[in-house]
Amino acid sequence: MKERAYNRYALSIKRPHLVLLGAGASKAAFPNGEKNSLKMPLMDDFVETVNGLSDYLDEYGIDYKGQNFEDLYSSLYDNSKYNDIRQNIEELIYDYFALMELPDEPTLYDHLVLSLTGRDVIATFNWDPFIWQAMCRNYHRVGDNNLPHPLYLHGNTAVGVCTEHEKIQIGHKGHLCSKCRMPLGRSKLLYPIGKKDYNSDPYIKSSWNGVKSCLESAYMFTIFGYGAPSSDVEAVDLLSEAWGDKYKRNMEQIGVVDIVDENALCKRWDRFIHTHHYDAHSDFYSSMIGKCSRRSADASFNANYNCIAWEEYPIPKNASWDELDEWLKPYIEVENNAWLRENDSS
Ligand SMILES: [Zn+2]
Repeated sequence: MKERAYNRYALSIKRPHLVLLGAGASKAAFPNGEKNSLKMPLMDDFVETVNGLSDYLDEYGIDYKGQNFEDLYSSLYDNSKYNDIRQNIEELIYDYFALMELPDEPTLYDHLVLSLTGRDVIATFNWDPFIWQAMCRNYHRVGDNNLPHPLYLHGNTAVGVCTEHEKIQIGHKGHLCSKCRMPLGRSKLLYPIGKKDYNSDPYIKSSWNGVKSCLESAYMFTIFGYGAPSSDVEAVDLLSEAWGDKYKRNMEQIGVVDIVDENALCKRWDRFIHTHHYDAHSDFYSSMIGKCSRRSADASFNANYNCIAWEEYPIPKNASWDELDEWLKPYIEVENNAWLRENDSS
């Protein structure tokens, strides 16, 4: 009998699978809006989409028609007479994203966090609260330290932070800090200007330190719905620096999930891709994470190093919560046993 994928590849490697998310991931998860039908804004329709923003700009006579939000925001940022207006715009944006909620049924974001393990990391540029909410509602399904570690590279509207300690404390916004018992404050957001300061806010700085160190050790790196916009040039430089010389990463695997055509993707991520060690998909469920869920790095490692073909065991896209729990069961069992063995031998 053929051994099942969740056994054969169980935790062959310790190196993480890093997944980087951009706005396209949230767009793919909720093409028609989230639980409250709030639409995911793009830079081109941002003012019209974020509730209250066009009325506010009209009130102050600021012309936004036909302008990309990135350009509009940058021009306000560069002129100090607009400081108050700019801060009010930031409040409106924060409130809009903070209101977003995952629908009650399992979503692509639930599938994403359940398709990775405690070894792995999800770094997101998105302000929306979906990864945080998906982590919270799936924690009990996989047990302690078995969800991927989240990093918020532009801040996040779901996360509460206390930066008073050497190790920054994070939790639900408004809950008490476990160290000083003061309420956790809002995370700052980094807004779309060309010259972002990734060091000014301690929480964002620590997220960047986290993603850089993860990239150095990552075996797989998947970029999902992130278009590397021109205002993020510095971000992509930082990521590339941490990944290092692609010719020295000749066994690692890059995955790209994006609706853009493959040639354009290869060009966009050329600095990261070593020869043919990449796979590109327009749909999350046909990516390595979707097909070899919870074992993506193991399957890829075994294929590249040991020439063992991987067996697919995809996360069921249309399953109910109960069905997802059933699907997870053999994985969690194998993982718990592997970790027990590891702790016994150490
Ligand atoms: Zn504290």
